[in-house]
Amino acid sequence: MNYRAVCSSCRKEHEISPAVWRCPTCGGVLELADAPKFDPALVDRRDRSVWRYRHTFPVPPQTEPVSLGEGETPLIPAEIEGRQVHFKLEYLNPSGSFKDRGTTVMVTALAASGVKEAAEDSSGNAGASFAAYAARAGIRARVFVPAAASGPKRAQIEAYGAELVPIPGPRSKAAEAVRQAAADGAVYASHNYNPIGLAGLATTAFELWETLGRDPLRNAWVIVPVGHGSNILGLARGFRILQNSGLIESLPRLVGVQALAVAPLWALKTYGLDGLGFVAEGETIAEGIRILQPVRGDAALTAVAESGGDILAVDEEAIRLGQSALARLGFYVEPTSAVVWPALMEVLKKAGKEDTIAVLLTGSGFKSTKQ
Ligand SMILES: [Zn+2]
Repeated sequence: MNYRAVCSSCRKEHEISPAVWRCPTCGGVLELADAPKFDPALVDRRDRSVWRYRHTFPVPPQTEPVSLGEGETPLIPAEIEGRQVHFKLEYLNPSGSFKDRGTTVMVTALAASGVKEAAEDSSGNAGASFAAYAARAGIRARVFVPAAASGPKRAQIEAYGAELVPIPGPRSKAAEAVRQAAADGAVYASHNYNPIGLAGLATTAFELWETLGRDPLRNAWVIVPVGHGSNILGLARGFRILQNSGLIESLPRLVGVQALAVAPLWALKTYGLDGLGFVAEGETIAEGIRILQPVRGDAALTAVAESGGDILAVDEEAIRLGQSALARLGFYVEPTSAVVWPALMEVLKKAGKEDTIAVLLTGSGFKSTKQ
């Protein structure tokens, strides 16, 4: 199967195989070129996975999905500082993180294109998700991870039968290694570069709309960790589709949260280009968003600005306290996911009394538990 993608650099539109990971003309980052409408009548209510929204995916209707029942995660209210806040339990997806929403669409497209072997790089969650869906599809998977990635994530990747390739050094070294493998001919099934997964990540927005309804989304905030920007861009795509379909009037404010130790998007948003001068790939317990050069950084900043939202950065102590505070509410998440807690405290100060606040809890605490 082929799909339509447009290059974010040279703006050339391509009819392209999902096995291609960047613009064949200039090497730029590809975006989805489709503009689907959301039609509630086309949602398949018998299907509990994200595939019930498949009419918004750039995948031919007859394609057999590679699915593990991802999506339809609970939205649980809790009272915080006297306000109702909705927590979306994305860590309950099949491999323990939100990544599965995107991976199911990407691996389906790769399998439909006859791909039998593919490589991916990840700090853990995307690698585990890819390994799971590759196993399901019968695709041989190779996953490049930073050697320091947490033990449970590595164990999970290997348990699915993927070949694990640990790369010493920071996260960016694993990315370099997999790009070398791609240059040597491997199919690079990148959750960051391949835009197809964004169609799956958009389903979080559809679920929020279905659960909360049209009016609560009129003045809403959605808080989410941001590394490369795929989750926030998935949300932006979903809410834009709903808006273009006449189902919501205004876009919810998207609030992306970074760890202060590695906060390129926050620095750009707060200080402009000068801000990049003091951005470093510092140590953080939020390993999943330890990203110095976000692949979709510009697009993420644009999406945040269009939504009237913000990018926040939080320090290590606040992340630790956040993880503990969330656990005391019954939400067991990894440190990367806990960055949303101090951000929530900021949003509660700014949000109107009647505003709706939703927080995405992206990855399971089981993935970071010390063994
Ligand atoms: Zn291009």
